[in-house]
Amino acid sequence: MSDRENHQNDVASPTHRVRHVLGLSGGKDSAALALFMRDRVPEMEYFFCDTGYELPETYEYIERLEAFLGKPIVRLNPTRDFDHWLKVYNGYLPSQRMRWCTRMLKLKPFEEFVGDDPTFTYIAIRADEDRDGYLSTKPNITPVYPFRDHGITKEDVMRILHEHGLGLPSYYSWRTRSGCYFCFFQRKIEWLGLKQHHPELFERAKLYEKVDEETGARYTWSQDESLNELERPERAAEIVRKHELEIAKARCRNPSERLFHIFSDSVDDEQDLRPCLICDL
Ligand code: SF4
Repeated sequence: MSDRENHQNDVASPTHRVRHVLGLSGGKDSAALALFMRDRVPEMEYFFCDTGYELPETYEYIERLEAFLGKPIVRLNPTRDFDHWLKVYNGYLPSQRMRWCTRMLKLKPFEEFVGDDPTFTYIAIRADEDRDGYLSTKPNITPVYPFRDHGITKEDVMRILHEHGLGLPSYYSWRTRSGCYFCFFQRKIEWLGLKQHHPELFERAKLYEKVDEETGARYTWSQDESLNELERPERAAEIVRKHELEIAKARCRNPSERLFHIFSDSVDDEQDLRPCLICDL
């Protein structure tokens, strides 16, 4: 009997069924994991924490994936939206240090979905990644890491997506991660990508930024500059130049690497840009 089956017997009680759930973020890794697990755990429940602020490409990818899985992907919506919580947090935009958005818009709906049922949650951390896991501390929720257990790397993920005919989400041509369109984990070049591909969303993101004239307090998505400052032609040109330099250096190091890998692997020294797992896998 496997560890999972042993644990399954331990946590099951007469009143609770054991559940197997897999969260889709709209990113490549969780999509590949869903395809990888489809026939291994037929009773799997798939879910997507929809903040209501995801990219159009993410919604489209989730719909396509649903067809490939042949099962519904349950959309989990928060009971109160971002604007509500922004007021609760006194207008402070979320940041790496104050990541209330993940807790309120993603983690809370997920924990409500699971309730008190003993649940295995399947997480798409790969074997070639060095990051830890799981945000929920509820004792009835047990994380499972199939990619780590099976030695699945990024190359394997790409192969799984290719073999199933799903491919990558289309936003990968200009953005490396899933998540809200205004996510503060975006790189500068990705903010410019948002402006180019979804100018209306870029404008909406700008509306959230405020500078308090009296106190000088700045409420901006990036700590060091506002989107108004970032989009100025000379600043935008500088960001593009720096990005192209990074890409060129990465190409020199590994000429056969595909552009997507170079883009996603290039190190951004502006800030620590590791989003939470529930938003980015
Ligand atoms: S994607 Fe970004 S902005 Fe959205 S909930 Fe996650 S961390 Fe917050």
